[in-house]
Amino acid sequence: MIRVGFTGAGLDRADQLRLDEAALARLAAREGAAVLRLDAMDPILADDGALLWDPLDMETEAERILLGLAGETPLFAPVPRVEIGRPAWSAFPLLALMSAPDAAIWGAARSLVEWHNRHLFCGRCGAATRLFRAGWGRRCTGCGLDHFPRVDPVVIMLAEHDGRILVGRQHRYPPRRYSALAGFVEPGESIEEAVARELKEEAGVDVTDVRYVASQPWPFPGQLMIACIGTAASADVVLDDNELEDAMWVDRDGVVAALSGDPAAPFAAPPPIAIAHTLLGAWADGLAPPPGAA
Ligand SMILES: [Zn+2]
Repeated sequence: MIRVGFTGAGLDRADQLRLDEAALARLAAREGAAVLRLDAMDPILADDGALLWDPLDMETEAERILLGLAGETPLFAPVPRVEIGRPAWSAFPLLALMSAPDAAIWGAARSLVEWHNRHLFCGRCGAATRLFRAGWGRRCTGCGLDHFPRVDPVVIMLAEHDGRILVGRQHRYPPRRYSALAGFVEPGESIEEAVARELKEEAGVDVTDVRYVASQPWPFPGQLMIACIGTAASADVVLDDNELEDAMWVDRDGVVAALSGDPAAPFAAPPPIAIAHTLLGAWADGLAPPPGAA
């Protein structure tokens, strides 16, 4: 199994309790019940890089999310009013210090906190919404419509041609950074169609034999990244200058060097928490060969 970032939280999400107000009250009162400590949406870490938790204050009326149960211990997240749309980069230095389960727990909390802040009012009638389902939904106080946390699918992919893969560089990337191309799946589109469309739009590359490699939640604010590889018909590239500053084909040795952080590598790879890193590694390891390959 391929290990990807923001997974492996190891919590029982206890979906069957979310609408049970009496059970939720008992959980909140349980010895050891804890609330995640957040700075707006960013994590606050102990010296050893672990997430910090506070005892649940039963007296407050503040909104909170039941993240799940760690063994018998109920874990909650607060729902502070925050500035939305913060870039992912602000949390990267802290993520580098966190364990995989802690990153997954915080990632889910971050996604939900931002979603709550984006859905304080009903999209149908404009009235205020209130948290329900233990934080896994909001219900309109005007028309009663239920709103549920969004997950937006994004395809992220490598085109492969003659032993090389295509990586691209966006204008906002740090120096030397190249990564897999990516884009949102649109309504009326399959994953395979989205992969083919994005590669055609951004790089002018036609692909066939699109195969799935792995997926990963990306909590900035709530994407599901779906990593794929497709076989390119040719190595000709026509860049969309609005999306990409540059793109290049890289062979296996170049990808391996980039993933190892070699300063002589043809590019600087994305960090291990990003699924682009996982995808490049999977390709270098031959984990998603084209159909018919030995
Ligand atoms: Zn409404």
